[in-house]
Amino acid sequence: MLNVTHTLVSAAYDFLRVAAFYDIPVPLRMQFRVKPLKDAWGYYYNSPHVIEIDAGIRSTVRLLKVVAHEMIHASLEQAAACDHEEHDENFRQVAKIVCERMGWSERGF
Ligand SMILES: [Zn+2]
Repeated sequence: MLNVTHTLVSAAYDFLRVAAFYDIPVPLRMQFRVKPLKDAWGYYYNSPHVIEIDAGIRSTVRLLKVVAHEMIHASLEQAAACDHEEHDENFRQVAKIVCERMGWSERGF
């Protein structure tokens, strides 16, 4: 069973940058936190850029999907300050590209 660590999340970020975000700008300097989360698998915070991941994730695919999801928030936030809680049309468009590249269904992403 997967044990989510800071190193693993950082590696997932680097992997996703190469595999799916190669032409989608994301912050170069990202900080990662792993902790038990109650209401979500992950969060993204800006200034400084932080991705927080639920320590309870036990699947590599789930981990990659959650990191990718937060990377989309980071990308949109970097492009234009917006309400990154929102999964608006901009978010859906980038999510569609990322899911296609990763071979994921968009459902539940
Ligand atoms: Zn979200």
